[in-house]
Amino acid sequence: MRKLPRVLVVEDEPSIAELIAVNLRHNGFAPTVVFDGAAAQREIDAVLPDVILLDWMLPGESGAVLARQWRKHERTRTVPILMLTARSDESDKVQGLDAGADDYITKPFSTQELLARIRAVLRRRAPEIVNDSVQIGELTLDAATYRVSFRGKELKVGPTEFKLLHYLMKHAERVHTRGTLLDKIWGDHVFIEERTVDVHVKRLRESLGEAAGMVETVRGAGYRLTALNQAGKSATPDVTPSA
Ligand code: CA
Repeated sequence: MRKLPRVLVVEDEPSIAELIAVNLRHNGFAPTVVFDGAAAQREIDAVLPDVILLDWMLPGESGAVLARQWRKHERTRTVPILMLTARSDESDKVQGLDAGADDYITKPFSTQELLARIRAVLRRRAPEIVNDSVQIGELTLDAATYRVSFRGKELKVGPTEFKLLHYLMKHAERVHTRGTLLDKIWGDHVFIEERTVDVHVKRLRESLGEAAGMVETVRGAGYRLTALNQAGKSATPDVTPSA
C-alpha cells in the first residue's frame, strides 16, 4: 500500500552494505546497494532514490566528490545524502557537509543510530515520506498505523476507501476528476469504469459517518475533500453548477 522510502546505499564493503540493506529492509525501507559512484549514477538515472547513504571512501570517485556532483544536478539536488565515514576527524565531517551531505555517520555505527539519522534527514527534506499522518479539521488519517479517526473516535475504513481518503486528504480543497482518482488510487494500468469511483466514494462516506459531508460532490467535475465548518456542514456549497 504505502510506498516504501527508497534508499540508495553506495558502499564498496560488501559485508557492511549487506548488513545495512538487511536492516533497512526490516525497518520499512526499500534499499538498493551499489559499490561505486558509476553504478550509483546509473541507478539514480533509472530511479530517483528518496535518500542516499554514501560511503566516503569508494573506488573511483570519493563520496565527497559524488555528493558535490549530485548537489549540483537538478535531478538530485534535493535528495537527502547521509555520508558514511570511517574517519571521525573534524575536518572530514566539515568537508562532507561542505560537499552537500545533509548529515554524516561515523563507522562503526549501530543500526538504531543509522535508522534514526535516515529518518531525520527524510523528515527535514521530505516530511511526507516519514510522517504519513494527515489531519483535516477533526479528521485524522495515519498511513503508518492504518488508522482513521474523527473527533478522536476510530472509524472502520476499507482498503480502497482508505487509499481514496488518503489521497483526498493530502490534496484537500481541490477538485479531483474521476479520471484522476482512478489514476492515483487504482493506477493507470488498471482498466476500471469511472463509476467505480462513485461506488467507493459512497462507501467512504458511509464509513466516515458524521464526517461524510467532508467528501463533496462537485457536479460535473468530481470530488473534493474539505473541512467542516462550525455547524458540521461542509464549508463550501455542495452543489456547483456543472460546466
Ligand atoms: Ca569504503
